[in-house]
Amino acid sequence: MKNDITIAQEAKLNLIEEVAKSIGVDYDDLELYGKYKAKFADSIWDKVGDNKNGKLVLVTAINPTPAGEGKTTTTVGLGQALGKLGQKAIIALREPSLGPCMGIKGGAAGGGYAQVVPMEDINLHFTGDIHAVTSAHNLVSAILDNHLQQGNLLEIDTRQIVWKRVMDMNDRALRNIVIGLGGKMQGVPREDGFIITVASEIMAILCLAEDINDLRERLSKIIIAYNFKGQPVTVNDLNITGALSVLLKDAIKPNLVQTLEHTPAIMHGGPFANIAHGCNSVRATKLALKLSDIVVTEAGFGADLGAEKFLDIKCRQSKLKPDAIVLVATIRALKYNGGVNKASLSEENLNALKTGIVNLEKHIENMQKYQVPIVVTLNHFVSDTDKEVNFVKEYCETLGCEFALSNVWEKGGEGGIELANKVLYTLQNKESHFKLLYEDSATIKEKVETVAREIYGAKDVIYSASAEKTIKQIKELGMEHLPICIAKTQYSLSDNKDLLGRPKDFTINVREMYVSAGAGFVVVVTGDVMIMPGLPKRPAAENIDMDQSGKIIGLS
Ligand code: ADP
Ligand code: MG
Repeated sequence: MKNDITIAQEAKLNLIEEVAKSIGVDYDDLELYGKYKAKFADSIWDKVGDNKNGKLVLVTAINPTPAGEGKTTTTVGLGQALGKLGQKAIIALREPSLGPCMGIKGGAAGGGYAQVVPMEDINLHFTGDIHAVTSAHNLVSAILDNHLQQGNLLEIDTRQIVWKRVMDMNDRALRNIVIGLGGKMQGVPREDGFIITVASEIMAILCLAEDINDLRERLSKIIIAYNFKGQPVTVNDLNITGALSVLLKDAIKPNLVQTLEHTPAIMHGGPFANIAHGCNSVRATKLALKLSDIVVTEAGFGADLGAEKFLDIKCRQSKLKPDAIVLVATIRALKYNGGVNKASLSEENLNALKTGIVNLEKHIENMQKYQVPIVVTLNHFVSDTDKEVNFVKEYCETLGCEFALSNVWEKGGEGGIELANKVLYTLQNKESHFKLLYEDSATIKEKVETVAREIYGAKDVIYSASAEKTIKQIKELGMEHLPICIAKTQYSLSDNKDLLGRPKDFTINVREMYVSAGAGFVVVVTGDVMIMPGLPKRPAAENIDMDQSGKIIGLS
């Protein structure tokens, strides 16, 4: 089959105003970024306020192999298939980060015949939202260091600065650095470091804010450091809430693009799924619900991370309620979870499949705890054999789960009809009784332990001395009511990437914790998870180029 970028470049796109028209949006309510990308102008909100909300479908997955298991591909393909069935459906996705795009994973616009386009634009600079977040974030850093240089009136303890710098690139050499060297006029020397832009609290805020006022309020609350008395110093103390809001005034507007089959796709915001919550913006999801009958959205990583945060953070804060969950599995990932190494995943191996299927079992049980109806879908790879496919199908049917084989990568919307029908059946016949996993009123430790035990299957949780200290501090700050956002490896249900399948009797190790007071959650960092990724030996960037005509090649 052709590669992703070739398929995307051969596609005949509709003008973006045509795509908007298909969901009843006027040209006047768009701000165009070229012919095929637009932002929704603020004027749209008053017009859709009284519209009925559509149904919300979340796409999530089992624990993946390092190549990704096709959540975005399935989300796009399901949207295309619903469109083929005459449904008014919108896809709501995150914006890709450049870091992974140039690194190991490649882009995040779907794959095969289930992609959003223009694929190159979306994967590269798109409408500049990530750039805006980088600028806003680094403005805080620049103002903070200038404050130290100008006499440090706020008495900031330079050993207790929790705000790092950001860049949208995988660059491990910047994880830990010393800044301000060179003498009196070159700043105050201190330890610093970079995280990737999509891990910035500002990205999380952009994605959780209901509107520009909420954005402003959240920005003002960001804790950047502690003073010598141990009290928090916030963005508000630095007097730059206004400037940050200005830098983000366009980034807060959702972006409209289309799939290969012209299904409208709103792509907005791209928070990391480890130290942030990993889903597209609340505003995009809410707008999509107002403009369609069915919204298909995706949460990053496996269901233990992405779906848990979508449900316990995004839905908690925004009062969104999912009507169905699509759980993506692949034969490859099930075999990987059954102990097969990456190189041998294309060979038939029923024994490994039988060993690894417990990973799917656990994720089904987990999603049932939220009382939202589930459809399991197998994202079909050409290397899958009939015997393997039948085994998974029968397994799901024995559990009483709705099951659909999906061929959207190979066939686009046509390959997702079975899945779309199962989703429609579920939306029409099964009611969602969505409930959160834990109450706001639980203590921070109770929250961590609930997720660790119920979702990961851990036996207990161990906290480092630094984490214990932060827990005390959170209590003193009166922030114990916040939900938690756990950063953990995506490859295992545990915090150790090598414990595959359905590990039992393991301990979750909490390394550090901090408060994202603006985003409104407490970050809990476990195991050895990284907040600035590194590059592999052969980064994807080595394949990317342009031909004589300016056509991009090698982007995947
Ligand atoms: P996720 O959203 O779960 O990280 P993606 O949808 O981005 O995964 O897919 C990851 C990669 O796998 C993409 O390059 C995509 O083209 C490829 N892919 C997805 N589904 C299939 C499939 N059924 N067959 C072959 N490749 C696939
Ligand atoms: Mg994805």
